[in-house]
Amino acid sequence: MTTSPESPSPGERISTSNAEDVLHDVETQVDALETQFDMDPLDNARRLLLVHAHPDDETIGTGASMAKYAHEGALVTLITCTLGEQGEVLVPELEHLAADKDDALGVQRIDELAVAMEALGVKDHRFLGGPGRWRDSDMMGREGNNDPRCFWQCDFDEAVGEAVKVIREVRPQVMVTYDENGGYGHPDHIQAHRVAVAGFHAAGDPEQFPEAGEPWQPLKLYYTAMARSSMQKVIDWFRDNPDAPSFMGPEVTDASDVPFTVPDEDITAEIDARDYFDHKMAAMRAHKTQIEVDGPFFAMADGFGHRAWGLETFVLAYGDKGPTDPESGRETDLFAGVE
Ligand SMILES: [Zn+2]
Repeated sequence: MTTSPESPSPGERISTSNAEDVLHDVETQVDALETQFDMDPLDNARRLLLVHAHPDDETIGTGASMAKYAHEGALVTLITCTLGEQGEVLVPELEHLAADKDDALGVQRIDELAVAMEALGVKDHRFLGGPGRWRDSDMMGREGNNDPRCFWQCDFDEAVGEAVKVIREVRPQVMVTYDENGGYGHPDHIQAHRVAVAGFHAAGDPEQFPEAGEPWQPLKLYYTAMARSSMQKVIDWFRDNPDAPSFMGPEVTDASDVPFTVPDEDITAEIDARDYFDHKMAAMRAHKTQIEVDGPFFAMADGFGHRAWGLETFVLAYGDKGPTDPESGRETDLFAGVE
């Protein structure tokens, strides 16, 4: 269990030096691909499975919760559907790895993900169908969407079968993925949603994928969700700090115009993982080709401190809502009502 007595209070301006320490420790330990997961999943009473599209999505959207549950003794399993080969490369000396040059970004991102997972304390992370089975499909509308190797063009049954195999092996009570728009409309995120939802329903059905193991029905499925009020704070902060590198142009002034935000009243769970802020920051740094240390994510972390990065929100899509916080009406634990 991590406690951080010296952590700044929420909202206070923070330094990223603790995150640097975490990451330094990790980089000396990880010989990324050598580590093998060899634990009986059922040794853990609580088991959480997340399905994400590209390496880095897990950290940006759910990294603090993953670190919290892992440190509390839950088995946290990550399935990443592609290697993110089409990503932009933000590190000049690694630009040659880009898809339109050496096309070798995938291998780099396998390593980045391994370092990030070590930073979060997540031991079980896998690629759907094995590393490189499906390729990054690039942004919607681009040529990459038509590549027969890409996840957007996958044989859907095969992809669901691979997800079912993992679900039946690790037997999660709770699963997490994106909403039907994939959060923001990237084809790999939409496909990750479809595969995860189909896998969630098929895993408990003995008629489906009988070769993929003993049936197991997870009890709850959540979608990641950014509350509209949180996005509004981000917009306002970047407006008041025009020198900070921002995600969006100055024309965006109202969070309800940002497609991937969710009305606050639709949020059903809020996980307070502020104690794991440093772990999340370290994992962000590990994704170094994707996230600039002086870019908008870190500007935002400086602006909002633990609150923006340590509180992660979700919408329950399937399953029964557990006990809630009387004030917010939200669950404070993804496993609420499960035990
Ligand atoms: Zn992504």
